[in-house]
Formats: sequence, C-alpha cells, structure tokens
Amino acid sequence: MIHLHHIHKSFGRLEVLRGVDLAFDRPGITAVLGPNGSGKSTLLKSILGMVLPDQGEIHFNGKPIDNLGQYRKDISYLPQIARFPENLRVRELIRMIESFRSQPSQSAELIHQFGLESVLDSQLGHLSGGTRQKVNLVLTLMYDTPVIILDEPTAGLDPVAMVKLKELIIQAREDGKILLITTHIMSLVEELADRVVFLLEGRIYFDGKPDELKQRVDEPNLEKAIANLLSGGHLTPIQPLDASSKPIKKMNGNVVQPQLKY
Ligand code: ADP
Ligand code: MG
Repeated sequence: MIHLHHIHKSFGRLEVLRGVDLAFDRPGITAVLGPNGSGKSTLLKSILGMVLPDQGEIHFNGKPIDNLGQYRKDISYLPQIARFPENLRVRELIRMIESFRSQPSQSAELIHQFGLESVLDSQLGHLSGGTRQKVNLVLTLMYDTPVIILDEPTAGLDPVAMVKLKELIIQAREDGKILLITTHIMSLVEELADRVVFLLEGRIYFDGKPDELKQRVDEPNLEKAIANLLSGGHLTPIQPLDASSKPIKKMNGNVVQPQLKY
C-alpha cells in the first residue's frame, strides 16, 4: 500500500533521511520510534507529500505519489504541530474542515467520546494544550480512511483521553487499517504496536516486532531495550536488499557488516 524506496532528504546541510526503505502493506499498528530530531516527522510528512524527498520514490497503492494529492483522501493525518487561527471556535473549525469533503463525518461521535461538548463554542486560543489535542484528534479521526498517521497523538492528553485514544486505535486496527504512530510513551508502544521501526540519524536501525527488538538486545522491557540499542553494541542500520554490501560505520566508530532486511 505505502512503499518508500531509498528516500533521502536534507534541509540545507542537515541530512535528515539517508536512504530509507519501508513498506506498509498489511493492516496493523507500526510505531515509528527514534530520538528527537531523528527524522520521524519528516518521514511521515514525506508520505503525505508535505516534504519532497531529494532522492527516492514513494508509492501509494502502486502509484508514485503526485502533487495533486488525490491519494491523500485515503490518509487521516494528525500533524505534530497543528496550527489554526486562535480566534476560531471549535465548532467553526470542525465545520470548516467538514465543508472540504462530502464524505460522512464521525465528528459528533468523537466530540462525545472526548467530552468536548462544553468547549464547542470556545475559541481555540482559549483551550488548554490537551483540549486542543483532543480537537485535533477529532479532526483527524472523523473520516473513515484506510491509512491513519498520527504524529505524537498523546501529547498533552489526560489519562481519560489516552484510554479513549487507545480504544480508537485498536478499533482502527480491527477495521483493517494501516496505522503509523510516533510517540514517546513506551507503554503505548508496548501495548499497541505490531511493528516497531527505529530511526536514528536518518537510517532505519530496526524494523520488526517489539518482541524481536527485546530479544535482539536481550532485554524484556521495551523502553530499556531501546535505551540499550542507543547505548551501542547493537547498532547496525538495516540495509535495503539491493544496496551495496559495503561495511557501514557504527556509532562508536567500529566497522560492521550491514544486515539484510527481514
Ligand atoms: P523528529 O520528528 O524525529 O523529532 P524531525 O523530522 O521533525 O524529527 O526533524 C529532523 C531534523 O530536521 C531536525 O533537526 C529538524 O530541526 C530538521 N528539520 C525538520 N523540518 C525542517 C525544515 N522544514 N527546515 C529545516 N530543518 C528542518
Ligand atoms: Mg517529530
């Protein structure tokens, strides 16, 4: 469904993505993990066509993504930073977004689920960060799409909203959707992720099941397993199958052979 081939992206001199190959074909939840600045948002935005790769190609349903963005109607996207005019009221914002599409919207149900009825007439600028995030989640999840991309959906959420978000994510998986999620909350990854993609310095260092990651570093706790990955000893970027098999420099300067993707 979504295929990324050798994606490179630099901002000026900063190489953010350095040859990323990924495929998302099956329904399920993929957690895209990596330290701050490792290129997670850039990767997700490139799938949306909001960041144009310098090299490489992205295919959606077998076709290269195009500028017209027709394919984007199949993707629900929560940006890490969503900005709307501060004086807009919640109700107006939801109506405005709904006016762009003829598809039926689940906004009323989601407003109820996130308990937002009382803020519908409030201006966005007067809402707390967590309440804004709930509004953003309503805007993202109100349409039925085969792909859902959530960039830090948990930011600022209270425990009740967090439980609701998890339920919605699980329901989406049951409905056969492809979900890509970034989060710093490892318990969420532990609970939900079918697959973990670990990005570091613009490359993929791990792509597999959370259990495989734990086994790789012999650490039963996912958060610690990732910390172990980062602290060295296990760090080897995954190379695409057709890439050269040149040795790759490890973080600590040792040279190791690249592994093949599984
Ligand atoms: P992550 O989401 O993993 O924290 P990002 O993809 O947001 O990382 O950013 C990766 C790096 O690229 C960061 O150093 C960030 O400052 C930089 N960056 C991202 N977008 C831009 C941009 N539009 N212009 C310049 N630098 C950018
Ligand atoms: Mg980000």
